[in-house]
Amino acid sequence: MPENEAPAALRLEQPEWLRDWLRQPAPAADDRERLLEVFDLARTHVERDGGGPFAAAVYREDTRERVAAAVNTAIASHCAAAHAELQALSLAQQAVGSHTLAALPCVLVSSSAPCTMCLGAIAWSGLRRLVFSTPRQDVEAIGFDEGPATPRWRRELQRRGIAVRGPLLRRQGQAILRRYVERGGPIYNGPPGAERPLSGADS
Ligand SMILES: [Zn+2]
Repeated sequence: MPENEAPAALRLEQPEWLRDWLRQPAPAADDRERLLEVFDLARTHVERDGGGPFAAAVYREDTRERVAAAVNTAIASHCAAAHAELQALSLAQQAVGSHTLAALPCVLVSSSAPCTMCLGAIAWSGLRRLVFSTPRQDVEAIGFDEGPATPRWRRELQRRGIAVRGPLLRRQGQAILRRYVERGGPIYNGPPGAERPLSGADS
């Protein structure tokens, strides 16, 4: 790119290994099975030192098809917005050729509850359901900044016709966050030295 020329296209790439991973058959139409698959994605990403310990996937609830899946690539993509949920939703919208998934019964399954940015993306996505594992406080406990507090977020999504389920399999989700810290993964949007030990779990 010549100096002083602003880019005119946005490029967000998922890691190469994810293409092979996507060839495995989608799990049964069960929230836990799907979440276990998303955990596998997040865990693989962590073990490869690929970036933030987050993964998400969009599934059709009628055909059981996996429409899209993504991991967080904020650092590698040079893009603070490259969160897993935002990319999974965007890839799904491009796969169906529409800015909205409203014509299809889609669920987003995510390793963590949405940050403030992804909450907006979910609200406008045309999704029918959201399933997540670790809540915001678990992600903040390892030092990430999840954005301005949105205590009524579940109600806001439900008001837009998006059902919300979670925290689901929280301990397993926490283990992935903990592993990221153990491996020295960067806390790229939190204050320096912000990591705190995870505590508490429900399901
Ligand atoms: Zn996010």
